Amino acid sequence: MERTVADEIRRFVNESPANRFPQGERRYFDEPLVGFAAAGDPLFADYKGIIGSFHLTPAELTEQTPGCEGVRAATVISWVLPVTQSTRESNRRENRWPSREWALTRNNGEALNGALRRHLVAFLEGRGHRAVAPQLSPVWQEFADTPVGIASTWSERHAAYAAGLGTFSLNDALITPRGIAHRLGSVITDLRLTPSGRPYPGPRHNCLWYREGTCGACIGRCPVGALSREGHDKARCRDYVYGEAPRAVAERYGVPSVGCGLCQTRVPCEGGIPHGTK
Ligand code: SF4
Ligand code: SF4
Repeated sequence: MERTVADEIRRFVNESPANRFPQGERRYFDEPLVGFAAAGDPLFADYKGIIGSFHLTPAELTEQTPGCEGVRAATVISWVLPVTQSTRESNRRENRWPSREWALTRNNGEALNGALRRHLVAFLEGRGHRAVAPQLSPVWQEFADTPVGIASTWSERHAAYAAGLGTFSLNDALITPRGIAHRLGSVITDLRLTPSGRPYPGPRHNCLWYREGTCGACIGRCPVGALSREGHDKARCRDYVYGEAPRAVAERYGVPSVGCGLCQTRVPCEGGIPHGTK
């Protein structure tokens, strides 16, 4: 069944008309990566200490979602939607604002990601299982001011890490075998699937800064100084990504929701796990 679920996610993304730029054949995302974590993995309880007590375990999120009371969460299905090379290349050329292709991918590509969440829930329920997409649950909440900055009741990045899809980076993203430029999603289900396992020696292994004290290329890519050797200033990043950048980009391209991603392009981790120098 692991293969059936992964194939369905890949099929949906590959075939969906929503995975296409307007008036074109080019796609927002390449073939997804898919991983599975056991809902009872102790890591999810650890996240309460790492992120905050407000971060929910798969069992809590399922039980608190209206209509899912009494459902026993068994597996977290997580996926990575890699941004295509041509979109990454367009963003490499930018220094102040994201490229039009990047902005469209962030806006329309995230709509596709939402459709994938809904589709996977329906796909599982059509086979007699129960499922909930954390991001679409009324239980999902974001908190502007926590000890770790802006955070929510469910982190797609942490779910993807638990499912073995990558490790964390200096700029607070996830470096996967297809790089750092992507969108993530997840669904929790009572279907028991074999966990993928975590193949990396540590939670920050794929980032050169944490692995060997080199690189730091993302620091110089940030137009507002939100990155430093100490890490990611989430508030400064957010002010730019949800404030200044959308206004400027709406004027330039007429695209409402833009992201930024400058620190995810023209960097060694852009399209894969970077090789070290040591
Ligand atoms: S650019 Fe370098 S330091 Fe920054 S996240 Fe990527 S590997 Fe880590
Ligand atoms: S997303 Fe943009 S604003 Fe945020 S840290 Fe990266 S480069 Fe800076």
